[in-house]
Amino acid sequence: MSKKVVFLTGGTGVMGTQAIKKFMEHTDEFELRALFRPSEKNRAKAEAFGEGLKVVWGDLTDFELLERSMEGVDYVLHVGALLNPLCTDYPPEVTMKTNYGSTLAMLRGIKRFGQQDTTHFVYVGTVEETGHHAMPKHWGRVGDPLQPPVYSYYALSKCASERAVAESGLKYWASVRQSFQNPNNPAAMDYPIVGEMPYDNCSEHIDSESSGNLMLQICLNAPEEFWRHGYNIGGGEGFRFAQHEWLKALHGDIRAGWEPKWLARKNYHGQFFSDSDRLQELVPYRLKTGEELLREELRFQIGVLKSRPRLSPEENKQHNHDICAKPEGTVWAAGHSEEHLRVYYGSREKYEAIPDSWDEIELVHPSLEPSYLDHGFDETKPVSELDIEDMRRAARFRGGECLSESMTKGDMYTPLRWRCAHGHEFEATPNLVLFLGHWCPEELRGEWNYYEEARVNPFFAQCWDYEHEGEEPFSVKMACDDTLLTP
Ligand SMILES: [Zn+2]
Repeated sequence: MSKKVVFLTGGTGVMGTQAIKKFMEHTDEFELRALFRPSEKNRAKAEAFGEGLKVVWGDLTDFELLERSMEGVDYVLHVGALLNPLCTDYPPEVTMKTNYGSTLAMLRGIKRFGQQDTTHFVYVGTVEETGHHAMPKHWGRVGDPLQPPVYSYYALSKCASERAVAESGLKYWASVRQSFQNPNNPAAMDYPIVGEMPYDNCSEHIDSESSGNLMLQICLNAPEEFWRHGYNIGGGEGFRFAQHEWLKALHGDIRAGWEPKWLARKNYHGQFFSDSDRLQELVPYRLKTGEELLREELRFQIGVLKSRPRLSPEENKQHNHDICAKPEGTVWAAGHSEEHLRVYYGSREKYEAIPDSWDEIELVHPSLEPSYLDHGFDETKPVSELDIEDMRRAARFRGGECLSESMTKGDMYTPLRWRCAHGHEFEATPNLVLFLGHWCPEELRGEWNYYEEARVNPFFAQCWDYEHEGEEPFSVKMACDDTLLTP
């Protein structure tokens, strides 16, 4: 039997490196081609993998190369991206171009070679697409409203890319949304994003070896029913932590290194997934237990600490303060930007109301009992029975209308016409709207105006209103060339 050809992006990143290792154990079945950015360091990395790996030298903005590389490819694993927070070193356009542009280029390539029915496209999205789910609504699933955090062009690029993949008309695609992967790039610890995470933020982690294994297992074992859907990657039970619990298990008490006001209360990303076991059922890929995750992360963190100057507890606290005092950080926001302060805390009043002492704050253990948002249609009905009435109902729940007069009952993949509450008309498959949580693309360009959206869209209001009671209307202008967001 001839080998299946796999094209992987992000081969030098955390998840991509793990994926390559897994594929190198299956070189009889797969020819792995991985995109590597040319550099001394990456040449050494490529050599270390040996002859089994075919390296394609180039980067994610070389669109012609990406298009050409699709010829004869059976599986595309689009793992690579300019990630948060490292992407904040670049103008937003660079993030959009790299992450969204690369996706569009590969989709064009697949069509250019007439492989729409043969190439399998696996897109790696992110938990940031659905954004922040604060307690007590800290459980989420794919299909919940998109809510990319304000200021995150990374999240916008992922939402736009996922939409392009899901609406590409390819016969085989999937979006797997990545969560908190450990170990991760230690460079992220020096970005102000460390203060943007609420102390009670809930996250479902995954170890990077399992993430890499997922890429292999999809190519080896994914059943027919896996394709044309979206999934959350998460380790499940044992991998769910509130931030203060996670830190306690690794470094010690959050209260020793931080003051309450230095940590944002909103606009982060993270949730426990009520649907992450679904991915494991379809494509078993998890390799570790929660205890192993913690043990390995601890070992990793100790290694990172050893490579840095040793700090006393006081110096460590000062270090945390100084990171948050960098531009766009939480401490900086309090002194320099009412807009950032609103985004991170809701309002000046809410910020001032945060106690100065941890003694007045209860660090609670989040409920491990899943809760579900309403998706605006009868989820007990078999998909094969969903018809135009269900679409109308789903559209009304999103503050809009389904303009198409009819559809084939159960057909989730033929686009219909819709109108949002703001009067924009757009096309989208029922699958995109009902099962992936996307809606009008216009709301993800120009500005983040979640306050207004929650006024007109009950579907969206579910994940916004409970967190933003008593706040003034506000919106934040996007600073990117939004032409790239045209689907
Ligand atoms: Zn709209």
